[in-house]
Amino acid sequence: MEQPISVTRSNFNDWMVPVFAPANFIPVRGEGSRIWDQENKEYIDFAGGIAVNALGHAHPVAVNALTEQAKKLWHVGNGYTNEPVLRLAKQLTENTFADKVFFCNSGAEANEAALKLARKVGLDSGVAGKSGIVAFKNAFHGRTLFTVSAGGQPKYSQDFAPLPNGINHVAFNDLDAAKAVINEQTCAVIVEPIQGEGGVIPADIEFLKGLRALCDEFGALLIFDEVQTGVGRTGSLYAYMNTGVIPDVLTTAKALGGGFPVGAMLTTDKYAPHFSVGTHGTTYGGNPLASAVAGAVFEFINTPEVLEGVKHRHQYFLDALNTLNAEYQIFEEIRGQGLLIGCVLKAEYAGKAKDITTWAGEEGLLALIAGPDVVRFTPSLIIPEQDIDEGIARLKRALAKLAK
Ligand SMILES: *Cc1c(COP(=O)(O)O)cnc(C)c1O
Repeated sequence: MEQPISVTRSNFNDWMVPVFAPANFIPVRGEGSRIWDQENKEYIDFAGGIAVNALGHAHPVAVNALTEQAKKLWHVGNGYTNEPVLRLAKQLTENTFADKVFFCNSGAEANEAALKLARKVGLDSGVAGKSGIVAFKNAFHGRTLFTVSAGGQPKYSQDFAPLPNGINHVAFNDLDAAKAVINEQTCAVIVEPIQGEGGVIPADIEFLKGLRALCDEFGALLIFDEVQTGVGRTGSLYAYMNTGVIPDVLTTAKALGGGFPVGAMLTTDKYAPHFSVGTHGTTYGGNPLASAVAGAVFEFINTPEVLEGVKHRHQYFLDALNTLNAEYQIFEEIRGQGLLIGCVLKAEYAGKAKDITTWAGEEGLLALIAGPDVVRFTPSLIIPEQDIDEGIARLKRALAKLAK
């Protein structure tokens, strides 16, 4: 076989539309929670591909599902259904509140489907002007025009005006503010049970309960964006299960495919029929290859051992991070659930989260930020304790640089 073309990090600047600023090394292979770059330098992976690689890298369960399906059938188009997608739909509906599933390829697409469904339900209700969407400041729902508009971070939407209208943003965790804008014209409220990109900020249970009551009162759909919190990330299969609040629509993606692109919008028999034949669609959504991988990943994660393991690892991380913090006094607060952990920097280190992840990279650790002041960890749900120990040791060296 011919040698593949040799490429370097600087080629990113040569050929790629510059919407990202990737690290100055190129990962080339991974196994479990370790990754190696072109120079064969090893990294511990506390980033997990941004809450995606739930089983780490090259897990045999995912590799097997992918390769077995790859030999059979990749894609047939929506004129035909397929076995893997039906099995996955059965798993998702049997294990959640939902009765029906719409499959797509990403979190943004799942939210796009959810918001369009809500608009359609509002239209079908016959209530004039029932198209209002209530969303929250600092929220993140994806990068399509509708989802950046629903997101509560103007920096992601303002350059693309005119934006879809009818979206009202109020402060997260402020029930009175939500109450002031939810009315008969509201078709949906969209909320993350834990704001991920916005800084790993958990929603208060009373806030979510209040939103549920307001949605019931005014006939609006309650949409939980669980793209980041779903599929075991919090130690429960979905984060709504920790809250006692059941949404009408749930969106899931990221960890669902364990690294293979797939997304889904879950809803109930009450609302699903409003998306009738032809109302919405996608070419790749629900393809056999993605569905086979997601089915295997979902089955692996949805066991008491794995979910309990996430809770155990949460505590293990917290103990280690608190010990580090006792020495360096860098974090004001360590928050989050399961393996979605945010370390909020003290005021004197404001804006330094990116520097910390850069230094972590130099020390051989992949970590994330969630805004300028929060260092975020979303590792594999099955990361071994010895990899946590080693990653924390490398983080310690990075923090020592900051403390200097
Ligand atoms: C990542 C994320 C999205 C967007 O998902 P994509 O797959 O990047 O489109 C939406 N909502 C939340 C909460 C996310 O974390």
